[in-house]
Amino acid sequence: MTIHIDLPQLQADFIRYAKVNTRSYPGRDTTPSTPGQTELAKLLVAQLKDLGLQDVGLNPANGFVTATLPANTDKPTKSFGIIAHLDTADYNAENVQPQVHPNYDGKPIHFDNGLSLTVEQFPALKRYFGQTLITGDGTTLLGVDDKAGIAGAVATARYLLAHPEVKHGLIKFGFGPDEEIGTGADKFDAKGFATDFAYTLDNGDPGQIEYETFNAAQATVTIEGTSVHPGEAKDLMINANTLGRQLDAALPLFDRPEFSDGHEGYFLLLKFHGEISDAQLVYIIRDFDRQKFDARKAYFMKTIDELNAPFDHPRFKVEMHDQYYNMADIINKDPYPLRLAEAGIQAAGMTPKTIPFRGGTDGSKITYQGIPTPNLFSGGINFHGPYEVVSTEAMGKIAETLVHMAELNAAGTVD
Ligand SMILES: [Zn+2]
Repeated sequence: MTIHIDLPQLQADFIRYAKVNTRSYPGRDTTPSTPGQTELAKLLVAQLKDLGLQDVGLNPANGFVTATLPANTDKPTKSFGIIAHLDTADYNAENVQPQVHPNYDGKPIHFDNGLSLTVEQFPALKRYFGQTLITGDGTTLLGVDDKAGIAGAVATARYLLAHPEVKHGLIKFGFGPDEEIGTGADKFDAKGFATDFAYTLDNGDPGQIEYETFNAAQATVTIEGTSVHPGEAKDLMINANTLGRQLDAALPLFDRPEFSDGHEGYFLLLKFHGEISDAQLVYIIRDFDRQKFDARKAYFMKTIDELNAPFDHPRFKVEMHDQYYNMADIINKDPYPLRLAEAGIQAAGMTPKTIPFRGGTDGSKITYQGIPTPNLFSGGINFHGPYEVVSTEAMGKIAETLVHMAELNAAGTVD
């Protein structure tokens, strides 16, 4: 089956989404964290209704836009979801001006503000030679993460609606807020969405699949010191800064992100704020393996206990909570979503590549809410800054892959 995605339309959609400032901010008590995300959500509601999807709506409680493409076959077919996020990363997103460079030939692209995009600095640009490259104007991010995902999802819906001869099961679409600040998926309505499995379209090179993510916890340690005048401090002062340094020194020196890759976990001191009288240290703890993750947390707590032991009362207090878990522990029990994605990627002329993701995705949470949700690619490079780029063709590959997956899923040829 040859699939011709309407690339000019996809490109126009992407540019429209990119121009809406949807930067999210941590620490706000609204959902979404910023009004621009609601603006994009409303734009999508109108567009998805126009396209002819059903049950299109914006849930004000969680900020998610959802829509349904009903099955067009009587054959029992698994349902799946396609999920992307509305917000963009922690970088200027004011007045995003996408620039289109048709037939990109690798010549340097100079922005008015003096920044340049060159193959020398970013060799990955070579993969876009001959394609229609889209950049920002050097002053903002472009928002490829994750508006390329949204544009790819919408192009998939558009294609399937225009081609009823392609048989598929029920497909749901979900576009949610605040992924970049790690909170959006917490309120995802998995019961309402209720597909058998789903995919996020977030980052990654065309053909990439990610389903191993970290197990993640955060620990906030508060330390009580005893502040006395330095001139009279002997045998009296207990410097909270010193205790904080002792804690950090007691953790394994090489279990840090700067010394780790692949499947290795780590402790990361995110924040250390201290005075003599009190200090606060924030750590994140990461590991792919659940047992090693639990062992890391136990080691951390044991270290705190040991540091408290010499004192007549605990000087170190710790609040630790889990943030998300490795979805592989669930997905490995029934890898059908992976097999389907691999088959779709191959059908779209690419080579599937599965890599461990040294972070978490919205799917890390949604999987544990009951819908196994690996991550597929959204194309693009140089995320979260002024050098972000994507090509129209790379976004087209998202849609092409998903259309193949819809068809293969209904055909029942993948197991
Ligand atoms: Zn993202």
